[in-house]
Amino acid sequence: MLYPKEYFNSVKDISIELLNKHNIKGLILDVDNTLINLDRKMPEGISDWAKNLKDYGIKICILSNSNKIDKVGAVAKILNVPYIFFGKKPLKSGFLRAKEILKLDNENIAVVGDQIFTDIIGANRCNMYSILVKPIEEKDYLITRIKRPIEKLIIKNYEKDKRRKSLK
Ligand SMILES: [Mg+2]
Repeated sequence: MLYPKEYFNSVKDISIELLNKHNIKGLILDVDNTLINLDRKMPEGISDWAKNLKDYGIKICILSNSNKIDKVGAVAKILNVPYIFFGKKPLKSGFLRAKEILKLDNENIAVVGDQIFTDIIGANRCNMYSILVKPIEEKDYLITRIKRPIEKLIIKNYEKDKRRKSLK
């Protein structure tokens, strides 16, 4: 429940090949520290990455826990995708609303985010494919900062488990 299915440095590492392999036809994307940093800056290449996926036919919906509609809306506008703000992850309700927008079945949706306790747990509870990405910056909101050491421990165990499995 706590482990992601994949773990990448950046959303840009999520390839069409990977999505095809797992029959993923739509993405639910987190915003803070997944698409933009705390200063609301989007790293280079992210909008091209999203455009490339969309051109290929992958549907995208933003699901952010932020209550700042201007911030979430601005990111959605850059990527030209629908969005939900104040999403209350890891509760299922936001994910189900995003699913309605994507018009896809849960098993064809991947959830992408930088936090285990919101993005990954929520995705796993909904039986959606969970993809954890490294936060864009170490800088975090206070509440997130408290959770980070626990997340780091889980990621460490996750990678250890993965290595063990690949040795078998
Ligand atoms: Mg985030």
